[in-house]
Amino acid sequence: MATRYDAIVVGAGPAGLTAAIYLSRSRFRTLVLDRGAAGGQVNLTHEVANYPGLPSVSGVALGRAMRAQAQSFGARFLGHADLGRLDLASPEKTIEVLDEDAFQAPVVVLATGGSPRTLGLDGETRFKGHGVSYCATCDGDFFSGKDVAVIGGGNSALEEAAALTAQVRSATIIHEFDQFQAHAWAVEEARKNPKLSFLMEQTVTGLRGAETLEAVTSVHKRSGVTTVTPVSGVFIFIGYAPNTKWLEGHVALNERGEIVVDESLRTDVPGVFAAGDARAKRYRQITTAVADGTVAALAATEYLADLARSAA
Ligand SMILES: Cc1cc2nc3c(=O)[nH]c(=O)nc-3n(C[C@H](O)[C@H](O)[C@H](O)COP(=O)(O)OP(=O)(O)OC[C@H]3O[C@@H](n4cnc5c(N)ncnc54)[C@H](O)[C@@H]3O)c2cc1C
Repeated sequence: MATRYDAIVVGAGPAGLTAAIYLSRSRFRTLVLDRGAAGGQVNLTHEVANYPGLPSVSGVALGRAMRAQAQSFGARFLGHADLGRLDLASPEKTIEVLDEDAFQAPVVVLATGGSPRTLGLDGETRFKGHGVSYCATCDGDFFSGKDVAVIGGGNSALEEAAALTAQVRSATIIHEFDQFQAHAWAVEEARKNPKLSFLMEQTVTGLRGAETLEAVTSVHKRSGVTTVTPVSGVFIFIGYAPNTKWLEGHVALNERGEIVVDESLRTDVPGVFAAGDARAKRYRQITTAVADGTVAALAATEYLADLARSAA
């Protein structure tokens, strides 16, 4: 027998947590499912400096505060939830959680965000946890006083590299283009940081080592010259892919695997909404995820009100 809620939110990042705050505050029985702990990618962020009203907050603290706020309004959380069978098409949607229960609700908010893109090199899996990392906040400590490389050239790469320099001896930023794809201020900060150096127009070709990572090899795109950068760790920030594989065949996805929505964040399935980095959109930030969570929850509220009216 499935446990019934008014709304099920899948994904406890900023988008899902915001949707849960709005829904539970409106007295809807709300369940939040996450395959990990609450917070999402915010947990990977060393310092958040662009969340309005909080000039400087750790990502982990921000995620915890959002979760506590949703819980204070009565939202229930189920972490480390391994999703099984899915029925989103029926008016009463069903989501099974392996080794747990099945849950039903007329409304589902999909907020499963994104995961780090990988380089796709052999050594990447082998050295994961032994030199290869996607999270400076989580793993920076392991490389105190050591030399590391940071792969990428967007805001995340530059900001996380700068944060790493509080711990590491040096960080070499290896980027594929001749210009960074980051805000001017982030580039300026990085350029004047004495612990950062730059290798531009590089294709990363290998991650070398015996038991642990010892070096990154890269090739200059125009000259073909190979550079070997000796490092104990490499941090990879080359973008994110949406966590939507599990939704194939259930809701419309675009060619990049992002969930297709309308202005009210409705998917092509009635009663199913999508919010945050998992949906098709241009800018992926905490504030845009939070805004999405709000819109999806308000649109879901209208949907629930319509259902109640038609049942009366
Ligand atoms: C290193 C880094 C630094 C960043 N710095 C900033 C910054 O300073 N400022 C800023 O505004 N933005 C920053 N961002 C971007 C910001 O973190 C994201 O845009 C935001 O977290 C997206 O929120 P979300 O809720 O859509 O998804 P996410 O934060 O990705 O959360 C999705 C959640 O869904 C869960 N999930 C995924 N798949 C499933 C599944 N199948 N079943 C159940 N649960 C699932 C995940 O475990 C996760 O908890 C940064 C991102 C990174 C990676």
